Amino acid sequence: AAAKGKKKEVKKETGLGLSYKKDENFGEWYSEVVVNGEMIEYYDISGCYILRPWAMSIWEVMQTFFDAEIKKMKIKNCYFPLFVSSGVLQKEKDHIEGFAPEVRLLCFWSRAWRVLCLLMVYDSLSWPCCLGYKVGESELEMPIAIRPTSETVMYPYFSKWIRGHRDLPLRLNQWCNVVRWEFSNPTPFIRSREFLWQEGHTAFATKEEADTEVLDILELYRRIYEEYLAVPAFVPNTGRGVQGATSHCLGQNFAKMFEINFENEKGEKAMVWQNSWAYTTRTIGVMIMVHGDDKGLVLPPKVASVQVIVIPVPYKDADTKGIFDACAATVKTLNGSGIRAEADFRDNYSPGWKYSQWELKGVPLRIEIGPKDFANNQVRAVRSDNSTKHDIPMADLVERVQDMLNQIQESLFDAAKQKNEMPVFRLHTWEEFAEALSQKKMILAPWCDEEEVEKDVKTRTKGDMGAAKSLCSPFDQPELPEGTLCFASGKPAKKWTYWGRSY
Ligand code: AMP
Repeated sequence: AAAKGKKKEVKKETGLGLSYKKDENFGEWYSEVVVNGEMIEYYDISGCYILRPWAMSIWEVMQTFFDAEIKKMKIKNCYFPLFVSSGVLQKEKDHIEGFAPEVRLLCFWSRAWRVLCLLMVYDSLSWPCCLGYKVGESELEMPIAIRPTSETVMYPYFSKWIRGHRDLPLRLNQWCNVVRWEFSNPTPFIRSREFLWQEGHTAFATKEEADTEVLDILELYRRIYEEYLAVPAFVPNTGRGVQGATSHCLGQNFAKMFEINFENEKGEKAMVWQNSWAYTTRTIGVMIMVHGDDKGLVLPPKVASVQVIVIPVPYKDADTKGIFDACAATVKTLNGSGIRAEADFRDNYSPGWKYSQWELKGVPLRIEIGPKDFANNQVRAVRSDNSTKHDIPMADLVERVQDMLNQIQESLFDAAKQKNEMPVFRLHTWEEFAEALSQKKMILAPWCDEEEVEKDVKTRTKGDMGAAKSLCSPFDQPELPEGTLCFASGKPAKKWTYWGRSY
């Protein structure tokens, strides 16, 4: 009731407040903030969302960065069709032994195709991903599926194009949409049924080259998260990990399946080594979850399409035209220095209402210009991250604003890192594990690295919140003294691994 009372109060003031608090009801808070912050609109098909310009512009900033970086690495963009033929799917199917007979068409899941432990998807479930045999009245010659990822779409052509060692490496990327008919809890950005991504597919003569690329791409993903979105890939509020992006060596599995061979320098027949790597619009969801607060979105300056919003604050008898002109001049000066600024001249909203709306949309810096500022040839800047107010002489405008944007970017990252560091629990026993999990902590525990044991952990932790699983093993392993035992099986531990629930 108290929360409801508060909700009404805020709404009455501006009509803009959020009804839910991040700490109290994270799920509802998230749904509300993505809609009210104008990132998405819900669509009438579950798991599909409309990306509004406010979100799309963030995707474009990351796209510009990543695209330029991969071009430096001599990776080229291309575009393959949305559809996969049944013939190609059959080829992949034939490759798998002991395939369940009731599986007709493959529908696809995270990593499923890649590691070749295919998910058994039965007819009734797989059809939503497929067009089937009929379109309208006309029969299709064969059933076709919509790509969930493009290994099977692309690799038959890799096989055709790669003949000799001079054709290698082949390094392609495409920016596109994919469809995965997710059944567990769709969440805007984080888990949607259609999403945007880039998918890189590359083939090399040697494993060493492939391995180098995996890490180079991983470094670019790190930079997207840390330098642009200002987040480490863990969402503290729900204690869940999230798979932030994928960069991995496929080995030669697909090369075998699709006969991607080449003649090496010695004139011998050899098989290529392949990588694939991808990041998706999920990144935006992670950013929202990490930085958003009870007032709405909080956008890091590097990805915000409006970094500075300039709002005129005229009083009754003030020189309104002078103030408006000063706002326009401020925007012009900032734009001239590459800072993304806009003025909000709408005359049907009060300045207070505009403050709230831009706060809800997470604009990093607000500049207000009122009669006093105008008279003193200054502006008032208000930081979104800590609400501090700064009077800035016009002469110092660009320099000070740039400084503040940098500071905001940095402070968001620092705050996120701190939140990230806090809940990691290093432990050794099942009892400690169960306790930490119930407190939504992320866990670092010694593990025997056996798949069966992970399965067992999943079974033992199953519940309303979802099962816990291994999230990843850190590259920089803490010391693992001899005799350390696996927290789950009691067998000798092989490595330290992060555990927790995930999205
Ligand atoms: P995968 O091809 O399964 O390795 O997926 C590549 C990346 O896509 C993962 O690392 C996730 O970050 C992201 N991803 C997977 N499924 C979804 C989904 N349903 N919605 C948005 N992003 C996803």
